[in-house]
Amino acid sequence: MKTRVTEMLGIEHPIIQGGMQWVGLAELASAVSNAGGLGTITALTQPTPEDLLKEIARCREMTDKPFAVNLTILPTIKPVPYQEYAQAIVDSGIKIVETAGRNPEPFLPMFKQAGITVIHKCTSIRHSLKAEKIGCDMVSVDGFECAGHPGEDDVTNMILLPLAARQLKIPFIASGGIGDGRGLAAALAMGADGINMGTRFMVTREAPIHQKVKQRMVDASELDTALIYRSLRNTARVFRNSVAEKVMEIESQDGETKFEDIQPLVQGVKGRELFDGGDLDKGIWSAGMIVGLIDDIPTCEALLSRMVAEAEEIIRNRLSDMLSA
Ligand code: NAD
Repeated sequence: MKTRVTEMLGIEHPIIQGGMQWVGLAELASAVSNAGGLGTITALTQPTPEDLLKEIARCREMTDKPFAVNLTILPTIKPVPYQEYAQAIVDSGIKIVETAGRNPEPFLPMFKQAGITVIHKCTSIRHSLKAEKIGCDMVSVDGFECAGHPGEDDVTNMILLPLAARQLKIPFIASGGIGDGRGLAAALAMGADGINMGTRFMVTREAPIHQKVKQRMVDASELDTALIYRSLRNTARVFRNSVAEKVMEIESQDGETKFEDIQPLVQGVKGRELFDGGDLDKGIWSAGMIVGLIDDIPTCEALLSRMVAEAEEIIRNRLSDMLSA
């Protein structure tokens, strides 16, 4: 498949692995890039900007293909030295950056000067248009189905993608709710030049998380996610485990919820322990509705070749046959 995204990013398949806290390590990013997609290292998973430089170097030893770095700008428990992480990205010579969360405008001059292609993740059409206006090269349109932070508008990709196709001039990738060849073909049909996946890549052999977490997502249905932090306007879609249910219960109590009321339950370090140790109720972890469509744990190579073959079959045969009938 040849699209504006494969051309601009120098990749074989129009499939990107988006940033994921604790999951976007060199093992996964290099596996996705070696399989012909675009892997992504998550900057904030590394404790310091120096560690990020080391992780990028480690990934370069595992692949000679392009890969990206994600920089997410959202509320955190400890302040993050964003400028220093952004400088480390520039110093590393990385040429593709995925930004997410708040407006990436403060970092654009330094990224542009370094010749970096910037993909900004947006959960609404107005944010996508703003990203285009301030000079982002691409947007990742993140529907309500997605894992992590879907914003506060609750609009699904069935609406967001055609809106983006009508209004954006720069290419966009579809993110949220995609995990198979049908999703890939549908996203391309709705105007996207590629797709982004997170949850689906968590359930691959190379994802650096405990087998029990992967198996739980294989066993899950589309009803097994939950929305937390709604009351704080920092909504996140996570796997519906006992901790997520407890957070929702606290948020539904009368009166205003303060972040301090839920902080011990949701802190990122507990999510990391959950991924490392496989205790499924240790903390919370991001997961999208796509868990309902995931039923195996393939290698990244097997996943990507299967998805592309399925999408090609749909486009060449199923859709084309409808016209020739
Ligand atoms: P953390 O341990 O600092 O915080 C845990 C969670 O609480 C995060 O979701 C964070 O957004 C939220 N949070 C922190 N302070 C808050 C406040 N004052 N009000 C409301 N919510 C608050 O975060 P972490 O797990 O180490 O993650 C680091 C960064 O990566 C965070 O900004 C997090 O949101 C982001 N992240 C993004 C995704 C995604 O899907 N885009 C997934 C995981 C984490």
